[in-house]
Amino acid sequence: MKNVLHVGGSAPSTYIGAMKHSRKSRLRFILGDQLSRDIASLRDANPAIDIVFLAEVAEETAYVPHHPKKIAFLFSAMRHFAEDLRAEGFTVDYVKLDDRQNTGSLGGELARAVKRHAVATVITSAPGEFRVLDDMQHWEKMCGVPVEIRDDTRFICGRQAFRTWAGGRRGLRMEFFYRDMRRRTGLLMEDGEPAGGRWNFDAENRKRLPAGIRLPPVPRFEPDAITRAVLALVAARFAGHFGRLDDFALPVTAADAAHALDDFIANRLPAFGDWQDAMAADEPHLFHSLISTSLNCGLLDPLDACRRAEAAWRAGAAPLNAVEGFIRQILGWREFVRGIYWLRMPEYGTRNGLAATRRLPEFYWTGETRMACLRQVITQTQASAHAHHIQRLMVTGNFALLAGLDPDAVDEWYMIVFADAYEWVELPNTRGMALHADHGEVGSKPYAASGAYINRMSNYCGGCHYDVADATGPRACPFNALYWDFIARHEKRFEANPRMSMPVRGWRKMPAAKQTALRARAAWLLEQLNREDASL
Ligand SMILES: Cc1cc2nc3c(=O)[nH]c(=O)nc-3n(C[C@H](O)[C@H](O)[C@H](O)COP(=O)(O)OP(=O)(O)OC[C@H]3O[C@@H](n4cnc5c(N)ncnc54)[C@H](O)[C@@H]3O)c2cc1C
Ligand code: SF4
Repeated sequence: MKNVLHVGGSAPSTYIGAMKHSRKSRLRFILGDQLSRDIASLRDANPAIDIVFLAEVAEETAYVPHHPKKIAFLFSAMRHFAEDLRAEGFTVDYVKLDDRQNTGSLGGELARAVKRHAVATVITSAPGEFRVLDDMQHWEKMCGVPVEIRDDTRFICGRQAFRTWAGGRRGLRMEFFYRDMRRRTGLLMEDGEPAGGRWNFDAENRKRLPAGIRLPPVPRFEPDAITRAVLALVAARFAGHFGRLDDFALPVTAADAAHALDDFIANRLPAFGDWQDAMAADEPHLFHSLISTSLNCGLLDPLDACRRAEAAWRAGAAPLNAVEGFIRQILGWREFVRGIYWLRMPEYGTRNGLAATRRLPEFYWTGETRMACLRQVITQTQASAHAHHIQRLMVTGNFALLAGLDPDAVDEWYMIVFADAYEWVELPNTRGMALHADHGEVGSKPYAASGAYINRMSNYCGGCHYDVADATGPRACPFNALYWDFIARHEKRFEANPRMSMPVRGWRKMPAAKQTALRARAAWLLEQLNREDASL
């Protein structure tokens, strides 16, 4: 398989039931996030005898009401993928959402296709989400032919390899996984040692964006006839969903995604490291790659993206702190959270380690809040179905953590609003990294921060109704009192955590009058959030 290293081997293919038919014809069922030419289910495909099958189904658009840009992106990418396969000579059966006979479910459409083509076998690849894997267990019964589910080999670390790595370890830390992956792939390695003598250049990647810095434009991919047809369909069917459909300019083919990656490597990667954690008003993209939509549905290959970034460093076109930072996100975080997901599901999806129960305030849907940071991230997400990592973690995620919002509601929000959202990557990031609801499995400490952090990393506070320097007054930044209230609420839980002992000590040393004022302000803020018309 091109470009994919299966560290430590991968899980064997699974056959549901035994082969009973002898006819040669096989149906290759490609799901919407399996748009890679080298997906396992197409590996030995033969245009002379195989039929490739894709289906747009209502249940996939409705298990959460996705952002319309995500639906449009996936349907357009699927239709383009089908066209590319046809151009290669394959017979492609493609069912559109508005096909009158469409049953609305993956299993239902597969059963119809099996009947239509009288095939002997179905070959597909393991899905990204537990929910779909569960569904697949019924497909053979529904179709009456054997269904072969092949391992998804597009990840750099196979599921079985992650299980082997995790086996016997007391704690699973991304940093050690990442080092192992660097050794195994040879990425940024020199004579067995990490390039530059260090594994991690994160400390150099926390600069605040200087005023007046020139930000390179992000390439736009104007809708062609296929995308325009999809946009019309989505506008008609999903107008009530969160988010805007106008100004669609995402890459929807492998060729366009490759162009977007090249553009990032040439123009934004060199500065990616320095300002990886920075945020700026009305500047949603900064130096980020914006490749997650393409990676997650298969238009880009993760190991290839890492190798291309490494090549830029070796050619002297990008500094090591930037390239290491970028590779760590993909080789480290992306693979790690996927490993955790499959290791711990379905139990992981029910964790609520901090017993958080507050409902999601309405402003997460409308963006109507006087908190400039939240307003920026939410309105930008409405428009583009994207926010960069620190916005997701330290603004919307941090607020949800401090305010004790219910992880189920927060998870659902993250699944709905982002074009790159799939449960295998969204869930460990939200429930684990942002909400610390997973008992510290993904992050050894909660990413809790007061307004001072947001002020240090952004220019949001300057244009805010609230005063970031104040914690208790009527216009005090809500993050400040909520931060100390969070520490106070979980003081006992965190006192034994070496990475949390400093804030716990800080809280304990604080004069009683200050503690009382902070908790009173936090109680008032939380009371506002409990109201139907919560307005902060
Ligand atoms: C609460 C929360 C929810 C998130 N939900 C998703 C999600 O549904 N889908 C998703 O793809 N990412 C998710 N992320 C991770 C990250 O925010 C996005 O991958 C990133 O913002 C995508 O933008 P980009 O392509 O410009 O990334 P860049 O900043 O340019 O990073 C490059 C690539 O690294 C990978 N990456 C970076 N950070 C992570 C991470 N923490 N976990 C996994 N991969 C990572 C992505 O594939 C990304 O495209 C979430 C993060 C948080 C904190
Ligand atoms: S003052 Fe507080 S609420 Fe306002 S932008 Fe800054 S951190 Fe956000």
